Amino acid sequence: MPEIRLEEVSKYYKQENRRIAAVEDINLVIRQGEFVFVTGSSGAGKSTLLQLIHGQLRPDHGSIYLNDTDTTHFRRWGRERYRRQFGYVPQIPQLMRQKTIGENLETVVMIGRRRREGMVQKALGMVGLHGVEDRYPVELSLGECRRVELARAIILSPPVLLLDELTANLDEDAIWDVFHLLDEMNRRGTTIVMATHAKMFVNMMRKRVITLVDGKVFGDVAKGRYGDII
Ligand code: ADP
Repeated sequence: MPEIRLEEVSKYYKQENRRIAAVEDINLVIRQGEFVFVTGSSGAGKSTLLQLIHGQLRPDHGSIYLNDTDTTHFRRWGRERYRRQFGYVPQIPQLMRQKTIGENLETVVMIGRRRREGMVQKALGMVGLHGVEDRYPVELSLGECRRVELARAIILSPPVLLLDELTANLDEDAIWDVFHLLDEMNRRGTTIVMATHAKMFVNMMRKRVITLVDGKVFGDVAKGRYGDII
């Protein structure tokens, strides 16, 4: 079961000939089974942090360890194996519009058709979307599409879920359902790292809250509330 450790991690971007730090000098340990909210205003570095942990971005400085293995210098095969530890929902929806919901989910499952269909149905059922396999993303609401993306992220039961603004387009009832499901999965051992603005729900859940400001960890509070620094 993985523990993720970031040591002195920085990622820089160039914007109009200026170098800006998307995240800078991040030191963090995320233990297996933790539930972590990543908060901060827009541009604070939340997405970058999740993408670095996911291995789709490499840090310009510092290292990311999975247990005691430095993942920073993984080549392709190692990186792909590393990524299988994660279910990831990106901030920008990425369902393929010309494929059905079922086909969108099946692309991540490389096993026989029968078992694959069973897994798709189970994952959709877990996010409260029974029977949408044959529909297309445009036929669903934005909130339903986000839940399909969550289903795709959990279909292979990864030990870690990285969720970027998953609840941004959901109504309150759907947010409740999603948090309930995440809490349940967390109780069963799944690590959850979730970038969110859902203040009310963060305050109710009382989990670890990491607050980023200008790419730096400004607060890291166990059983915290939204915006807690200490
Ligand atoms: P958040 O998720 O908290 O809104 P991001 O991680 O998306 O923050 O962005 C952090 C900073 O990095 C912002 O200033 C953003 O403009 C910049 N940034 C992110 N991605 C890129 C990119 N691909 N190119 C240039 N700048 C970027």
